[in-house]
Amino acid sequence: MGLRSMLRRLLRDEPNAATDDPDAMFRRVVEKSADVICRFSHDQFLYVSPSVTKMFGWNPQELVGNDGFWMIHEADRPIIAEARERLVSGLQEQAVLQVRTICSDGSLKWVETTCRIETIDDTSEVILVMRDISDRKRLEEELSALASQDGLTGLANRRAFDQALDRTWRQTLREGGEMALVLMDVDCFKQFNDRYGHQAGDDCLRAVADSIQALLNRSTDLACRYGGEELVVVLGGTGLEPALAIAEQMRAVVASLQIPHQSSSCADHLTISIGVAAAVARTGGSMNIPEGLLQAADHALYKAKNGGRNRVEHAILIASSNP
Ligand code: GH3
Ligand code: MG
Ligand code: MG
Repeated sequence: MGLRSMLRRLLRDEPNAATDDPDAMFRRVVEKSADVICRFSHDQFLYVSPSVTKMFGWNPQELVGNDGFWMIHEADRPIIAEARERLVSGLQEQAVLQVRTICSDGSLKWVETTCRIETIDDTSEVILVMRDISDRKRLEEELSALASQDGLTGLANRRAFDQALDRTWRQTLREGGEMALVLMDVDCFKQFNDRYGHQAGDDCLRAVADSIQALLNRSTDLACRYGGEELVVVLGGTGLEPALAIAEQMRAVVASLQIPHQSSSCADHLTISIGVAAAVARTGGSMNIPEGLLQAADHALYKAKNGGRNRVEHAILIASSNP
């Protein structure tokens, strides 16, 4: 008997108790597999292997006879529906999906499910193999977090800033809302390094970054290391006045660290200068690219430096909401 026909007999769920019978052997393979193996037809599970209990805490009988949709995280259900559509319409013979599955204790587990159409006795069935990929996903998430993080300060890096600026900008235009950038630069930092050493300079950047980060608590706010001793904060859904208030808090919190800086031209402690730029999306506005907002913040920062440092300056722009 060929492998395929043995598997077919097995999947037809034929009882066969003989221990030396190949069917029984295959049944044991399926039942002992760490992966969950299922048969699915006409919107319901016909068979679910026992490992579903170890993987998710569910009993196979809780799945057999229903479509198991309730087991899939709501946000991932369209992925399943789409794959089912492609398989049923014959567009595809096999699909590999990654979805979050709800366990019996309410936790979520990442699962890779391979779905394959099999025709058994002229009846189409889908054979599903589910594999726990939580560890792989965790690693991927850690790597992706590292790739967007600045090594010295732990803030988001320049790459993450570019993405956040673009994302927030598009959302601002879409909603006809507002956003702001707070660009800051440590004052007389070259002299700080010259006087106290590069290591002290690094410690100082970390302390500044920590105190800026501690002032942010909304999910739409992102603090990033823009370059050497420059940080930038993206404030989604924020207009000029609140952004100026936050910037002033940032200036004050850094001054309050009272890090001695005897070579500074503007104080006896470490200070920062800040340029704030806000954009309001309005029909007929003239600015279509987020770089314009960054340039405006940079211009305001330049003004703050020229005005004597340790201060906040600003600019406001009207962005086009129908680019
Ligand atoms: P200003 O007030 O006009 O901003 O003067 P500044 O001295 O801060 O500006 P300048 O651009 O002349 O020098 C920036 C200094 O920041 C020089 C550079 O060595 C230092 N710097 C940049 N990145 C780091 C870093 O990661 N660690 C340390 N310790 N120093 C850095
Ligand atoms: Mg600088
Ligand atoms: Mg500087």
